[in-house]
Amino acid sequence: MTISVQDKVVAITGASSGIGEAAARVLAQAGAKVVLCARRTDRLDKIVGEIKVAGGQAIARPLDVTNREDAKAFVNAAVEEFGRLDVLVNNAGVMLVSPLAELKIDDWDQMIDVNIKGVLYGIAAALPVMREQNSGHVINVSSVAGHRVGPATSVYSGTKWAVRAISEGFRQEAGASIRSTIISPGAVLTELPDHISSAAIKEAAKAMYATAISADAIPNAILYAIEQPADVDVNEILIRPTAQQS
Ligand code: NDP
Repeated sequence: MTISVQDKVVAITGASSGIGEAAARVLAQAGAKVVLCARRTDRLDKIVGEIKVAGGQAIARPLDVTNREDAKAFVNAAVEEFGRLDVLVNNAGVMLVSPLAELKIDDWDQMIDVNIKGVLYGIAAALPVMREQNSGHVINVSSVAGHRVGPATSVYSGTKWAVRAISEGFRQEAGASIRSTIISPGAVLTELPDHISSAAIKEAAKAMYATAISADAIPNAILYAIEQPADVDVNEILIRPTAQQS
């Protein structure tokens, strides 16, 4: 029997824009109690306000996923406000793609810190709570880039490969009461490519994103994974634009 997301407590990192924002809105509309986290709290407050006006339940908390204490604090906030944490969506991420020869080492560091360490810090904060509850679900956002690597995506792909490895290891270790899902999108129209610092790659990304799908295409996959029976673990969902070849 499928389970409803109604009244489930779902914390979403990177909920101030793009996929995280879309997921927060869809899950709240479906009845979840959502905890939105990111650094841009002005944006979070606006989204939470709109969710509440629409009849949903939501709170916003500041979070820099590269900070372990922040990660603990937002999980604690979810538990204090709503009494438990059913689902953690580790969605925050950056895609600062560039050829290795450009030596954008600060960008490499940022991708490793946000995309890998951020996911691990989220798990570190949530796992003790989920073990104590004897239930929980960690949903990590990887990417099609976690399955294939191209010129300029070495480090980004490396981080998204790592997200899949961590998710699979988590799945094997977590036991029967805690679920692990990977969501791997293709090109989705969000702010993600706006932060690319390599001029040539930013231009190339524009061409690839010409056929990108809306962020609204992703939350239903998250909802599907959550709503499966408790003994069913949807391990990974890949979602590409139909027009995306690779
Ligand atoms: P956006 O740039 O729109 O959203 C990224 C989110 O991550 C923002 O809410 C941002 O919030 C947050 N974020 C970035 N750095 C940090 C940080 N240090 N601490 C906390 N939050 C942070 O892009 P998307 O919605 O596209 O990205 C969401 C996820 O989807 C990422 O993991 C991305 O890699 C993945 N993805 C996206 C694809 C796409 O084509 N768009 C394809 C495949 C995967 P703030 O700046 O307010 O902190």
